[in-house]
Amino acid sequence: MNMITEEFQQVKPPCIYFDRCGGCQLQHYSNESQNMLKQDAAEKLLGKFGHVEPILTMDYPYEYRNKIQYSFGYGKKREIIAGMYAENSHYIIDIERCLIQDPIGDKIIHTIKKIMKKYKMEPYNEDTGRGFLRHVLIRTGFSTGEVMVVLVTSDHMFPGKKNFVKLLTSAHPEIKTIIMNINNRNTSMVLGDRESTMYGRGYIQDVLGGLKFRISSKSFYQINPKQTEILYREALEMAGFNGTERVIDAYSGIGTISLIAAQKVKEVIGVELNPDAVRDAISNSRDNGISNVYFHKADAGEFMVELAGKGEKVDAVIMDPPRAGSDEAFLSSLVTLHPEKVIYISCNPETQERDLDFLTGKGYTVHRIQPVDMFPQTNHVECVVLITRNI
Ligand code: SAH
Repeated sequence: MNMITEEFQQVKPPCIYFDRCGGCQLQHYSNESQNMLKQDAAEKLLGKFGHVEPILTMDYPYEYRNKIQYSFGYGKKREIIAGMYAENSHYIIDIERCLIQDPIGDKIIHTIKKIMKKYKMEPYNEDTGRGFLRHVLIRTGFSTGEVMVVLVTSDHMFPGKKNFVKLLTSAHPEIKTIIMNINNRNTSMVLGDRESTMYGRGYIQDVLGGLKFRISSKSFYQINPKQTEILYREALEMAGFNGTERVIDAYSGIGTISLIAAQKVKEVIGVELNPDAVRDAISNSRDNGISNVYFHKADAGEFMVELAGKGEKVDAVIMDPPRAGSDEAFLSSLVTLHPEKVIYISCNPETQERDLDFLTGKGYTVHRIQPVDMFPQTNHVECVVLITRNI
């Protein structure tokens, strides 16, 4: 996306951290220019497969993120700081307000800093391995207002745990659950494996597409719920289900697409690798009274190989892989399974192009390409693509 020409209008970025922070890349462009840049990026990669529809954007492209993830440390005057890392570094920028995130997150972070100071709780130091609080992750259910706080700590002993919980929840009654996640490894991964619930049920709920979803700390959940509804609407419109289909939802997360699609088809089979997400998905089908969905915890590629080996019949595959895209095991089994339609949702048009190259070389044709801006101010582009079988 380096095609900076005069037609792209530069503006003063509204965020004061923009020059240093690695979170946003396009805030110094007007909304129209951002849309053009993303449209160009989508066309450059996917235009060879057909017409790329105009990107679906947000009227108010701020405060859309339902998840904030900050690292903690000390500043120059040994004050506690929290925020995003500066671009390509592990230097923490002390962020008071991030304009693309739900404002409640920064308010909670502010309270956590105050509590830490009062109780002399030390932020973790990556170089020395000393200190306690490493990161804080906050998730908000935009429809329900429920908030989850995950405290990533270096040790399982939480000094002053009861007081901490009491102070935090009384300052922010929206907090419905607090989770301690222990990460004592020298790693750039934020979350560790071990967790315990300090307060509440261990998950929050949100409503998407008219259905209730429970979300646990380690499960994937789309970070822009408003645009997610648009993305899913486009995907289902492209699918044009008539109620008789057997559908695979691959990389199904907590089952959002599966359950929304289940209301329009005969049966949905969801496949997802993360066991917590699968557990959420199963409980979500129960909570919504939807019984024509089956979730499997498996590698999507291996699962497809198994289905293809058994000679199963499926009418459509909805796939929404992570940034790395799908793999050859998945794609070649998909071809063997011979579904009439494939709806491919991707947050990375580069791997999507690669995978579409494969499928269009094996008897499939791209019919519709719809970019959706899920991440305004950043250079990320999400696309949903309809592919159909040639014969
Ligand atoms: N469709 C869901 C989730 C998409 S994100 C939604 O819209 O919310 C991609 C999901 O793929 C994540 O939940 C991730 O845990 C899962 N995943 C990653 N690698 C996988 C693999 N090899 N097999 C199955 N699922 C995988």
